[in-house]
Amino acid sequence: MNETLKNELQEKYISEGYWRDETFSGMLRECAAKYGNKTALCDMNGCISYSEWDSLADAGAAYLKSRGICSGDRVIIQIPNSVAFGTVLFSLFRLGAVPVLALPAHRKNEISSFIDIASPTAYITVHSHLGFDYGKMAEECTKGTGCMVLFADETDYEKFRHDTPCHCDNGRTFRDIAVLQVSGGTTNVPKLIPRTNADYLYDARVFSEVCGMNEDTVFLASIPASHNFSFANPGIIGTMICGGKTVMAATGSPDEILELTDREKVNITAMVPSLLALCSEMSEWEDYSLESLKTVLVGGSLLTFPVLAKAEENLGCRVRQVYGTAEGLNTITDADMSPELTAGCQGRKISPGDEMMIEADDGSAAPCGTEGELLLRGPYTIQNYYNNPIADEESFRSDGYYRTGDCAFIDTSGNLHITGRVKEQINRAGEKIMPSELERMLDEHNEIDMSAVIGIPDEMLINKICAVIVTDNRDIDLQSIRGFLEEKGAAMYKLPDMAVRLGSIPLTAVGKPDKKAILNMIMNDAVERI
Ligand code: AMP
Repeated sequence: MNETLKNELQEKYISEGYWRDETFSGMLRECAAKYGNKTALCDMNGCISYSEWDSLADAGAAYLKSRGICSGDRVIIQIPNSVAFGTVLFSLFRLGAVPVLALPAHRKNEISSFIDIASPTAYITVHSHLGFDYGKMAEECTKGTGCMVLFADETDYEKFRHDTPCHCDNGRTFRDIAVLQVSGGTTNVPKLIPRTNADYLYDARVFSEVCGMNEDTVFLASIPASHNFSFANPGIIGTMICGGKTVMAATGSPDEILELTDREKVNITAMVPSLLALCSEMSEWEDYSLESLKTVLVGGSLLTFPVLAKAEENLGCRVRQVYGTAEGLNTITDADMSPELTAGCQGRKISPGDEMMIEADDGSAAPCGTEGELLLRGPYTIQNYYNNPIADEESFRSDGYYRTGDCAFIDTSGNLHITGRVKEQINRAGEKIMPSELERMLDEHNEIDMSAVIGIPDEMLINKICAVIVTDNRDIDLQSIRGFLEEKGAAMYKLPDMAVRLGSIPLTAVGKPDKKAILNMIMNDAVERI
């Protein structure tokens, strides 16, 4: 997109009131003034209030400054869900440094590529967590790069609290990059996503309003705090803006989530469908009181009706489906929608400034109900990646629309329906098949616990359709799967050409089916054909 259009759009977001003159650092300062001693952030070791969080940010900023980190520097943070995550994050904001939000699941490949792209001054992590030696990885990744390693579990803020009152606000403005988010996806190392103070705070604020958050909100960060969904959709940042309390789940295991919900009286959380299914199942045999829980936001990958219906019954809460990308635009289902529709669509855009378009073959906007690639633009959707002109060329149109790579249609009520990934679409002898259509049907099979449908390269057909299932029933085979899908109304050309059985579906860092890993297993014959 050219600079003139970029500037025009930005001025529009300011004049229409989406972008305000605000920063993350200033937001915490305001929270401290407004909510003072109210509890802001908890983990299993304790809680801090808004005032304490603000002082710790001052102290932390002084400490980080003393270690040579300056305003504008990029700093990778890879810290599991904890109070330390929040204090280090806001220390960096206070200093004016830009956190690169790595996930705890990222390993050498991803971290090394963040170092290459962002040239960070420092990499802040913990020594170890859940049996993984982050210290060793940090040493290996930073060798010879000039990037220093600091440990969040060693930083002694108290030392700095009194003698170095750092009110180092810092020259950063609402237009500046606040954080570098990381893109999802399983094909390549993640791209870095520049989110500004103004756009990301607006996103979190409007999302928290749509979710009805307020001072009584108790939000559980069930998935990694640095992931867009937990971070600001509406997440930790949305909770702060409303003066609520965030509780950090350190491991993200279903038993920890249920226990914390009971103990801390959590009323809202966000998770991916696979985790929702596990929590719902576990609640059947664990005796926790989940009465406080009102809303579970679910997004990130395909949600099926059986999973949603069971979860609403078992957890006694409303499930609302969310579509989100770290690149920007979010949608959410209405709170009073039927469960069937909640599972069947991703809801409506959250801001009047959001622009969603389904691209027709000639590049124009396709009419309602037509399927095509989903394009996005708006006050909190990025206009470029960070230091990545090749990805910019692929992912942004000249009019500023971001290409999501998702196939979708929009219905007459404005609800978005994601039907799959453009690249996931299986081309079988020229016929186009969307895996999600078959996956939804397979998930209705009483004896199939989980499924994935993928294309397997084939000389004759271009791709064969492969059904991948998790089941204890040894009688289920290709023929019975084809029969079941036919009964459900699948067209003949969509019926699988092969089927395999797995013990479990491999998942990505945030719990989505990892289709690339499944394909590798099939290509290497490391599966049971049925
Ligand atoms: P991430 O950047 O990791 O948040 O991944 C964003 C991608 O996740 C989107 O582009 C979609 O492909 C997928 N996604 C997000 N929400 C949903 C949803 N509710 N249903 C289906 N896919 C989703």
